[in-house]
Amino acid sequence: MHIWTTSAPPFYKNGFIVACERTREAIVIDPGDDVVDQLAVVKREGVNVTMILLTHAHLDHVTGVGAAKEELGVEVWLHRDDLFLYEGAAEQGRMFGLNVEPQPPPDRFYTVGERLTFGDYIVDIQHTPGHCPGGVCLAIGRSEQDERELFVGDTLFAGSIGRTDLPGGDLETLLAAIRSELFVYPDATVVHSGHGPDTTIGVERRTNPFLT
Ligand SMILES: [Zn+2]
Ligand SMILES: [Zn+2]
Repeated sequence: MHIWTTSAPPFYKNGFIVACERTREAIVIDPGDDVVDQLAVVKREGVNVTMILLTHAHLDHVTGVGAAKEELGVEVWLHRDDLFLYEGAAEQGRMFGLNVEPQPPPDRFYTVGERLTFGDYIVDIQHTPGHCPGGVCLAIGRSEQDERELFVGDTLFAGSIGRTDLPGGDLETLLAAIRSELFVYPDATVVHSGHGPDTTIGVERRTNPFLT
């Protein structure tokens, strides 16, 4: 698995390109203000993007969807419960004093438990509400038995968790989702968060102050 991480001001949200090293098929995760860098990676590495996958629909994770879709011509996937946030992107922007263009509508809604594929990899969609209603974890690996890497959006961070004071957020729901959907993975499982550095399930299980 090849992974490239991008991040740009003002939110420094992590966006990802994940590619199959054999087929060069790839996915784009959460194109935001870093979309220019993501498209540069796609071009430079010569990967063939087949899907744009959103972990959730907060402003910082979706402002590059239109640009990515226009350039790549592939479908955009979102959890249905975040559609109200997605359609309210311009409104979210006004809360931050930013002028945000509405983004093109999502093409597909995830079905929970659904499995998507690119190249030799599978992407299992796990519903992790709490930070927002339609948050998902993308669990990527070669097969069911193989180790996964988790792309968790703003659900879990190194040493912290996502905020729950935004519309549709709920602390108990978030903690329950982390325990039932993420903490089922082995300690060595790598976690790629929507902000900040990578971590592992084991480190967070042992040391995250919200979860110990
Ligand atoms: Zn968020
Ligand atoms: Zn975020």
